[in-house]
Amino acid sequence: ESQLNPNYNFDSFIEGDSNRLARSASMAVANKPGGTSFNPLLIYGGVGLGKTHLSHAIGVDIKDKYPEKTVLYISAEKFTQQYIDSVKGNTRNDFIHFYQMIDVLIVDDVQFLSGKSGTQDVFFHIFNHLHQNGKQVILTSDKAPVDMQDIEQRLLSRFKWGLSAELMAPDYETRILILQKKLFRDGVEMPDEIVEYIAKNIKSNVRELEGVLISMIAQASFNRKEFTLALTKQIVDKFVKNTKREVSIDYIQKVVSKYFEMDVTTLQSKTRKRHIVQARQLAMYFAKRMTKASLASIGSQIGSRDHATVLHACKTVDNLTETDKQFKKYVEDITKKLSF
Ligand code: ADP
Ligand code: MG
Repeated sequence: ESQLNPNYNFDSFIEGDSNRLARSASMAVANKPGGTSFNPLLIYGGVGLGKTHLSHAIGVDIKDKYPEKTVLYISAEKFTQQYIDSVKGNTRNDFIHFYQMIDVLIVDDVQFLSGKSGTQDVFFHIFNHLHQNGKQVILTSDKAPVDMQDIEQRLLSRFKWGLSAELMAPDYETRILILQKKLFRDGVEMPDEIVEYIAKNIKSNVRELEGVLISMIAQASFNRKEFTLALTKQIVDKFVKNTKREVSIDYIQKVVSKYFEMDVTTLQSKTRKRHIVQARQLAMYFAKRMTKASLASIGSQIGSRDHATVLHACKTVDNLTETDKQFKKYVEDITKKLSF
């Protein structure tokens, strides 16, 4: 049993700028499992951005092209549970042997392994065996390897051997396409202005985009009503409120630059003027603290810096907060402005 969901395939995965690299790397792996340098292929990104979908799509496509290959999809959580059971039942060797026989292993949400050293250890051995034998490993995670915590160094370094591809939040055009595709699949017609309203308001999670559609279709058919903008607003509002709001990096930059009375382009500029550097470092620090974005993604959004710069900024802010009263006040003021 491969545990694959046939509906999660490449055809149903809409392409956009936000996922182009991850999608094409996934297709390359599906064409030549174990035969590309993308081994492991690590797909990472925030919740509801398609990691599970894309990892299934690889498996589904491989099963189609290479029916003789054994493909297994498993969540890291289930893998951990199986491992614990095998230790209890004295079948640890069988467990390892089973996984070492697989041609294509897909492990979803590997961040779940953090802090679980026994499972990491066994996974390390399975990984090495598969890799040495030219078998394909596909991993997903909510973080980039550089941002993963409590994962053994030797395992992290394996994660970095192949390709890490980020899934980002889809842009507006892609959100429209995703909505249209789902509506088409379900045979539902919806006025453009309503589709546009949903795409404008639900920005950072494809699962929520789908959730809004499902609620709307259910309510409209239950009440035998047309889709109205009023109903749409009601449902979208409910979704936006229910999701614990994560502030965006854009918003953080706006708040920080307003606080220091400069504009965002100044904050992002290459200047070394001290107060501008500090504002930029604070924006990076808050982005790290208040969003799930990776260091690399924070850096690229705040003036095209690299992940090391962001890491340095976070350390600098931590140090200054302890040693400099004025600076500490900046951090407190901005924290208040950012929490709503
Ligand atoms: P994750 O594993 O990253 O949390 P999922 O793979 O579960 O996200 O995706 C959430 C939902 O959004 C799924 O139903 C998936 O089919 C859908 N989805 C995500 N990205 C896309 C896309 N690019 N095109 C079509 N559907 C998508
Ligand atoms: Mg998932």
